[in-house]
Amino acid sequence: MYKRQVRAVDVAKTVELILESRSIVIVPGYGLAVAQAQHGVSDITKRLRDRGIKVRFAIHPVAGRLPGHMNVLLAEAKIPYDIVHEMEEINPDLPAVDLVLVIGANDIVNPSAQDDPASPIAGMPVLEVWKSRTVIVMKRGMASGYAGVENPLFYRDNTLMLFGDAKKNIDAIAGVLAAKEPPASPHA
Ligand code: NDP
Repeated sequence: MYKRQVRAVDVAKTVELILESRSIVIVPGYGLAVAQAQHGVSDITKRLRDRGIKVRFAIHPVAGRLPGHMNVLLAEAKIPYDIVHEMEEINPDLPAVDLVLVIGANDIVNPSAQDDPASPIAGMPVLEVWKSRTVIVMKRGMASGYAGVENPLFYRDNTLMLFGDAKKNIDAIAGVLAAKEPPASPHA
């Protein structure tokens, strides 16, 4: 049905793909909350927007473990409200997006909800991240999410996996981005 191998990337390759992108969508999930990666994500967002890269957030209605879980985390990290979008609003835009960063999310980006009538999550609305050019999924390993189902997204040709704790990887990405920035001008 789909190949059983995933393609792993490292932080350096992830930054390369990020900097090649003009339009990025970030999908936060339960794992981002567990890792407390929201402040690092906010830092990355600012750095990318300063470079002229379009960054938006896609919020699934049941992302996380509580209603509004992701909105609270993003607000806490001072991510601008006007770049945070609900699923219905952003799904039609995903085919035109260069890169989706899925951070500690699983069930909410599972294409089997649409493709597999036998799936326990069949019929659940999902974020159609696989329609973008490239997807990078950040999670620690191949564990399933809350629903306990496999996720074929991880095996798609345009999906790459960045394994590890979300905070650790996000902070490492922020560090590489910072190192690539020109030093601030003394006259600025
Ligand atoms: P999921 O539970 O589907 O997936 C979260 C993923 O995060 C896991 O697969 C896990 O993979 C990864 N993860 C955990 N810890 C870390 C970490 N420290 N760093 C990086 N990744 C981590 O979450 P979603 O948000 O995608 O979906 C929410 C689910 O919860 C849905 O099934 C929803 O129905 C359900 N739910 C939601 C409620 C709500 O009100 N929002 C209420 C009750 C249930 P790994 O272990 O490999 O890292």
